[in-house]
Amino acid sequence: MSLALLSLDGLSLNYGTVPAVRAVSFDLHPGETLSVVGESGSGKSSLIRTALGLVPPTAGTVRFDGRGLGDLRGREAKAFRRDAQMIFQDPAAALSPRMTVRSLLAEPLRIHGVAEWDAWPGVLDLLRRVGLPESVLDKHPHQISGGQARRVGIARALVLRPRLLVADEPTAGLDLSVQGDIVNLLVDLQRDFGLTILMVSHNLDVVRAMSDRVLVLYLGRAVEVGPAEHVLDAPAHPYTRALLAAVPRFDPGNRHRAPPLPGEVPSPRTPPSGCAFHPRCPLSDARCRAEEPAEHTLTDGRRVACHKPLLASLAAA
Ligand code: SF4
Repeated sequence: MSLALLSLDGLSLNYGTVPAVRAVSFDLHPGETLSVVGESGSGKSSLIRTALGLVPPTAGTVRFDGRGLGDLRGREAKAFRRDAQMIFQDPAAALSPRMTVRSLLAEPLRIHGVAEWDAWPGVLDLLRRVGLPESVLDKHPHQISGGQARRVGIARALVLRPRLLVADEPTAGLDLSVQGDIVNLLVDLQRDFGLTILMVSHNLDVVRAMSDRVLVLYLGRAVEVGPAEHVLDAPAHPYTRALLAAVPRFDPGNRHRAPPLPGEVPSPRTPPSGCAFHPRCPLSDARCRAEEPAEHTLTDGRRVACHKPLLASLAAA
């Protein structure tokens, strides 16, 4: 397999003494899409911010194209900031209301010293690819629709032709039909530009449509990581099953029917003993309450942190 473009190894992030991300590891290979799912408060945003180098990790490493982010200086650090771009969840907050779309698209070029007159034909091509007319160029963000603003955010992220695109809830707040358009657009752009995508989404329809692999995060820890079709069709962790059970159409055959997810993600300030999911888990027992489960690799390659994974037939010897 090719060298991972993005590699997290034992990545942890604390805010003061409060853990937000706990020893998360994964490799993301060129052209892949990995989605991080979990409830609010699971640490998804902290994870992607750390993976992008926006906040330094408390422990562990992030490597991009084989180089540790902490080792990058000067031109290498600038090249990383060019190669790794982000689509923000709230374009209204991410796009300056004082700037026109033209200025918003030109700004990354200026910051990275790219000659605008050389790059502008490519920007116009990008505008067309994201489905926006040139007439939006002289408009301000408040003069265009939410769907158009999302497309401007995508175009702005791609102006520098990055290799890694980090998409934070790329369809949040959009109408259903627009959500589908944005998913199709991202799939097309990934194919056309050879993008590698790290995505965070609450929307499991979007996750299913776009992902090669899925990482399920609970209280900052990766509790299940594996191929999307395995994790979404036959979850091995009780939390993944409960998360999916909240979306009925993911269980059309009633094969993995489970009760809805009770309670809320506990506070990371006072995490439960043993398995952090035990207060909400229908399979919890004394061992779960006392002992934090180690991560196991199942025979289908997925990694699961649970004393009693649901797919016992796949348990590693
Ligand atoms: S370790 Fe126990 S409490 Fe935790 S998810 Fe597995 S069965 Fe449930």
